Amino acid sequence: MKIALCVKQVPDTSDIKWTENNTMQREGVESIINPYDVYATELALKLKDKYKAEITAFTMGPQQASNMLREIIALGVDEGVLISDKKFAGADTFATGKTISSAIQKALPDFDLILCGQFAIDGDTAQTGPCIASLLNIPQVTYVKDITEIKKGVITATRVLDDGIETVKVQTPALMCVLKSEFEPSRPLINGIIKAQEAEIKTLSLQDLEIQPEDVGIKGSPTYVSKAFRPEIKHSCEKFDCLENGKGAEIILNKLKEIGVHNG
Ligand code: FAD
Repeated sequence: MKIALCVKQVPDTSDIKWTENNTMQREGVESIINPYDVYATELALKLKDKYKAEITAFTMGPQQASNMLREIIALGVDEGVLISDKKFAGADTFATGKTISSAIQKALPDFDLILCGQFAIDGDTAQTGPCIASLLNIPQVTYVKDITEIKKGVITATRVLDDGIETVKVQTPALMCVLKSEFEPSRPLINGIIKAQEAEIKTLSLQDLEIQPEDVGIKGSPTYVSKAFRPEIKHSCEKFDCLENGKGAEIILNKLKEIGVHNG
């Protein structure tokens, strides 16, 4: 079984700054692996243990993103592919999906499963995974908590809904977007760290892919960002010490009456 694992490097900060082109300022900011991609990695490693799956991690990003690929190779991922080219800069989710799907077709055409995180904590659109699936014309399952069985090309997965847990069966090849799970993130072992240091990270640039310059980066992005800003917080906050005086319900009721939400 072959797994393509999509991982994104995100800024390790909630203090996002913007460039003059209304894109995120990433230079000079420490980076981490997107936390949901850590859960996707854990799920992939679980499938490696259970089904001897081979895992290839893909990331689209600048050259330094190869360090992140080495970090996850140290955890047990088999190999890493860096999709990197100046022409990819400024990509929206559509251009990102197009570039990543093209890279997967190039480097791992016989994949059985693509695993993504459910969201990236910086862009936070949750569109990239579904975009890759629709471009590759394969089924997609979102909000995945676990994969419980893979048998005769059918994957059984559980997904988290607002009102419960759903079990779905899907034919491979398929794409799944992974939510926070109960697995504890692994820590690299010493032989993993050595393997990661020696690993060859394959790099794919635009000329390696079956896509045109007008399909990638800002040129290939139908989204136009006219302005990016941090919303001003206009609401004030009143704090009541309800636990201490045991009058919490009464205070809330009076407040609801005061603002006209409750008239009883
Ligand atoms: P989500 O869709 O929330 O991510 C879900 C999952 O998809 C992730 O957990 C991961 O598994 C996978 N994934 C997402 N991105 C990647 C990736 N790069 N590699 C591998 N897997 C991935 N961003 C920039 O970095 N530089 C820019 O110059 C830039 N310009 C932009 C311009 C416009 C007009 C717009 C709208 C966005 C721009 N962005 C830029 C943001 C960029 O589009 C998103 O970061 C990217 O498309 C992923 O979307 P997301 O962050 O919402 O991820």
